[in-house]
Order: sequence, then structure tokens, then C-alpha cells
Amino acid sequence: MSKTPITVAYGDGIGPEIMKATLRVLEAASARLAPEVIEIGEKVYLAGNNSGIGSAAWESLRRTRVFLKAPITTPQGNGYKSLNVSTRKALGLYANVRPCLAYAPFVPTRHPAMDVVIVRENEEDLYAGIEHRQTDEVYQCLKLITRPGCERIVRYAFEYARRQGRKRVTCFVKDNIMKLTDGLFHRVFDEIGAEYPDIVRDSMIVDIGAARLADTPERFDVIVMPNLYGDILSDVAAQIAGSVGMAGSANIGDQCAMFEAIHGSAPDIAGQDLANPSGLLNGAVQMLLHVGQADVAERVHNAWLRTLEEGLHTADIYRDGQSYARLGTQDFADAVIARLGKKPEVLKAVSYTEQAPLVLPTPVRQAPLHKQLVGVDVFLQWREGKPEQLGPQLQAVAAPDLPLHLITNRGVKVWPQGFPETFCVDHWRCRFTATAGTLCFKEVLALQERLHAEGFDVVKTENLYTFDGAPGYAAVHG
Ligand code: NAD
Repeated sequence: MSKTPITVAYGDGIGPEIMKATLRVLEAASARLAPEVIEIGEKVYLAGNNSGIGSAAWESLRRTRVFLKAPITTPQGNGYKSLNVSTRKALGLYANVRPCLAYAPFVPTRHPAMDVVIVRENEEDLYAGIEHRQTDEVYQCLKLITRPGCERIVRYAFEYARRQGRKRVTCFVKDNIMKLTDGLFHRVFDEIGAEYPDIVRDSMIVDIGAARLADTPERFDVIVMPNLYGDILSDVAAQIAGSVGMAGSANIGDQCAMFEAIHGSAPDIAGQDLANPSGLLNGAVQMLLHVGQADVAERVHNAWLRTLEEGLHTADIYRDGQSYARLGTQDFADAVIARLGKKPEVLKAVSYTEQAPLVLPTPVRQAPLHKQLVGVDVFLQWREGKPEQLGPQLQAVAAPDLPLHLITNRGVKVWPQGFPETFCVDHWRCRFTATAGTLCFKEVLALQERLHAEGFDVVKTENLYTFDGAPGYAAVHG
């Protein structure tokens, strides 16, 4: 049978050890793979490539479209771009799937019935990488949430749940605060979820959701969330299931996919044959399913479960009295290899059937709405006084049909009728709204010119639009 080409990176820290162990298990299980090895990570960064990956590596990834990646170390310091974030974005890997499962009683956990899959949006949110320093005192990071991005990840979560026979999909958002961005995620979740009547759907504010996940994870099934919440909570979920060393993850796109462990390069234990290769091995099992080798995935997964339940453990999960032997990385791989063909007797054996990779329809772009410019938020750096002085100065510059409506500082209204107690920094959002309900962009430019001529330091503007009459901007606190 023909072999599937895959791209392999050994990574940094414990990466080479766990990759070696994983590839040995795959080979012994007769995986039909043709690995192409690429160099990425610390060495590439330190050689002067600030993205940690060179053009030959990209070519291999574009050719094979399947990437088995060990963790890498991003050197400290400014100027080094995260290889993980670049790879996800460049290859369009929009869905990050992290199954977090308890293996009690063989791996200690307070949550023996836990079996949660976190589906994390992988490209957007605060990870868009658009950050600016705007004033002496204020820095900003843009949180971008798009409708097509929400549609893809939410549909992926429901399709995944249906295919895996899971019963519930929960959405975590913070739309009580971020009404437009997280509000969109929530709305799309409800719209698309309605197409899956066979799957229970519910949503939670991320803070209480996170607390419940940490307390009673067995109550959850599949959880879908925006990038940042998913990043944090999938580590929490993996850790409370037993160990971050155990969980693997799949990063899925329309054309490419990347499989890895969720943990990092663990430099504290590198080179000592101590690392648990299970996270990467579990990532590799997901890869085998993705490339249509369910038979091999099942053999490897069941042998691994059998190894765990025989008490053959690496140091991170070894417990005196509970484990049978403490094994190094390579001996653990040998133990799995020796059990290929066996099934677990206590833990539930897996049974995989051949399934084509999930390919979702491209989100349908909506027809453009009627968009009207109704005002502008002008951001100023200003430290010459108090808001009750700034307000009248700006009013004097404003045009009669584009008056100053309010001023906020760190999102809190300080003019008109602010509270003297409000702590202010040097960054002021000054909202001008058109009296006629609509205005021409030239008036926005004219306002900026007048502000500049009067000596104001305009650091940024944000146009205020309505879309089919609905405001495209958040209401103001205070
Ligand atoms: P880490 O996950 O590497 O380590 C956290 C702790 O868990 C350490 O005590 C480590 O020894 C332990 N640990 C992790 N994996 C283990 C395993 N397989 N077996 C046994 N113990 C294990 O996190 P960190 O220390 O915060 O980060 C170290 C480096 O990894 C950083 O440079 C970071 O940027 C990088 N990192 C890379 C990735 C990736 O490539 N996907 C992900 C996260 C962090």
C-alpha cells in the first residue's frame, strides 16, 4: 500500500526524544507513512530567521499538507515571531481540537469520569497580532472576531460532535462584556447550532464556565470557544485530566493539518529520557485518523492504553504503590510497541472506523448591509488637565453638525458629567456624532485637520457606522 508523505519536525527541548519515541511506535505499528524531516525552532531563530522556519520547510508543508510537530522553544526577546501562531495562520489551521480524557485509576485525577473535547478557534481573537503603543501610558491589542471565522469553528464543533457520537456542544464566551465580538460568536453558535437538533447546545459566560469545567468536568462534552479562552482552558482541562504530558492536539484547516502535543519543550527535563511521549503519540493517533489509517490508529491507541493500565509510567504520572514501573521515554515507547495488537482490559478500548477528513463548506459571504457613517471616535494623547477642561476645548473645535458627544478614559465616561473619582490616563476617546444621523467622510477628515491645527495629538480614529440601522459600536459605560 502506498505511503502517505508527512512532514516531521523534531523541535527543541524534549522534542527530539518524544518524536523519536513516537516515530518508533508508528513504524512498529506498520503505519504507512513517508516522513520528510524539516528543521524549525530555536536553531533556525538563532541563525537569524525571526519566524523560526525557512522556505524549504514551508515547501515540504505545502507538499505533504500533514505536519507532525514536536514542541519548540521560542527564544525570549522582542522580534521573534511565534512559529506556532505563524504556522496556524499561514496554513489556515482554523480549528484546534484537544481531547482531554481521564485514565483513572491508572493516572491519578480528581475527575475520573472526565471526557471533554475542547474545540478552540485558532486564528483570530487577540492572536491576530495587531498591537500598538498609542500614548506614553497606553498600549492596545486588537481583538478581531469575524463572522466567517465563527461560522467555521462553530460548524466544525457540531460536525465533530455528530461524527464522534457526542451529545452536547457548549459555547464559552464573555458577551456580557464584549457584546459585539463575543456577542457575534454566541449568535453564530445559536444560528448554526439550530441546524443540529440531535445535539444539545448550551452556552456559558467563560468565567463561570471555567469554574465549572475545573470543578465538574464530567458534565461537559464538547466545548467550543474563541482563541484565548480555548488556549488557557485546554491546558487546564488537560492538567486536571491527569497531566499536560498526556494530551495531543489536532490543528485542522481546509487543506492542511498539524498534529502535536499540547505541552511545550520542557527544557527543565530535556535530554534526560524523562519526558512522557504520550501527548505527541496521541497527536499522532489523530494524524493517523486524518490520513485514513484508522486501523493503525486503533492499534497504537489500544496498545498505549494497555501500557498505562499495566502501570508502566513515565516519571510525570508515576505513583509509588499505584504504578508498576517507572520508565524512561524510550523504554515507555518499547512497552507500547510490545503491546501492539493488545487491548486494554479495564480502560475502554477504542474502535476507529475509516472516515474521510471533515471538509466543511466555505462560509457563504452575506450580502453587504446598508452601512452609514454616523460619527467618529477620535483618540487623543492629552495630559494637560481634567476632562471638564478637555470637553469645552473640543466642543470649540467641533463643527455644529458634528458635535462632541462624550469623552471616555479607559472606557469610562468622564465628560459630560463624569465623576471626579475616576482615575484617568493620557488616552482619551472623544466621540463626535452627526446631528443629521449621517455624515460624509470628508467631515471626519476636516475635524481631524482642525484638531491637529489646534495642537491636539490625534493617535487614532475609529469610524462609527450603523449597519442596516443597527449601531456597529458598543454603548458607553458610565
Ligand atoms: P512546558 O509545557 O514545556 O512545561 C511545563 C511543565 O510540564 C514543566 O515542568 C515540564 O517539565 C512539564 N512537562 C511538559 N511536557 C512534559 C512531558 N511530555 N513529560 C513530562 N513532563 C512534561 O511549558 P513551559 O515550561 O511554559 O514552556 C517551555 C517552552 O516551550 C517555552 O519556550 C515555550 O515557548 C515553549 N512552548 C512550545 C509549545 C509548542 O511548541 N507547541 C507550546 C507551549 C510552550
